[in-house]
Amino acid sequence: MSALKGKAALVTGASRGIGAEVARALAAEGAAVVLAARDVTRCEGLAAEITQAGGSARAIGCDVARASDVEAAVALCRAAFGRLDILVNNAGVIEPIRALHDVSADDWGRLIDVNVKGVYHGFRAALPLMRRAGAGTIVTIGSGAAHQPLEGWSAYCTSKAAALMLGRAAHLENRGRGVRVLSLSPGTVATDMQRTIRASGINPVARLPWEAHVSPEEVGRAVVWMCGPAADEWLGGEVSLRDEALREVIGLGPRQGT
Ligand code: NAP
Repeated sequence: MSALKGKAALVTGASRGIGAEVARALAAEGAAVVLAARDVTRCEGLAAEITQAGGSARAIGCDVARASDVEAAVALCRAAFGRLDILVNNAGVIEPIRALHDVSADDWGRLIDVNVKGVYHGFRAALPLMRRAGAGTIVTIGSGAAHQPLEGWSAYCTSKAAALMLGRAAHLENRGRGVRVLSLSPGTVATDMQRTIRASGINPVARLPWEAHVSPEEVGRAVVWMCGPAADEWLGGEVSLRDEALREVIGLGPRQGT
């Protein structure tokens, strides 16, 4: 498996969940990876695992809400691997999960700092390099929440709608420079985030059976597919893993559960 041999990727929120599986999948296809998240110890553990399996990986502590942290992660990728071909804007949070009138302005704003400004910081740090190279792929992990309002999720739904629009704007500005911009809406995925959602009990997503969620490994495989020309039809738009026909194209098979 070497579809991405010679390429270098940065994955934000790579310490666990979807980000960790995306990093494993990219590395398994031969990409060198930089793993960025606040929990640098977990990123280092995953980097060691990838290295032991014959891949190349580096870890860096990074809060995507801080532009300078994301710039440092891009700089590490360049210093370690000499290039940046793929950025996966994956880092995200679901909390605060509360009715809009009941959330503190600081907590609501912190989610926007991570889920919207964090994605913006990724684009801002990666685009100059990719534009100069005349090539690159930026995948942002989106959500059905970009299109669907849900009780208790005003900040999250707003953030995912904003991140989707950010990607569409970035596509318009960069499609002529060889930079591929796409969003991935994975459906519900079996990670810590869904455990937090379930514990809240606040809306219908919280009441989904665990078997309804797809595995983070599937999301990793989808991101690898999105890095190749087969996904060019979706540039500037959103790949949804709820789309059964598309799942077949990607090679994921029918969706289990809801
Ligand atoms: P998760 O299990 O809670 O993991 C979240 C990841 O984001 C962790 O690696 C976390 O690492 C990182 N992160 C959180 N805040 C960060 C920050 N300020 N700076 C850097 N990294 C940060 O969640 P997940 O399910 O894997 O979600 C990953 C992405 O998929 C999110 O954007 C989420 O909205 C999206 N998504 C998830 C689902 C789902 O059902 N799970 C569905 C649709 C979309 P640290 O804590 O170490 O920083």
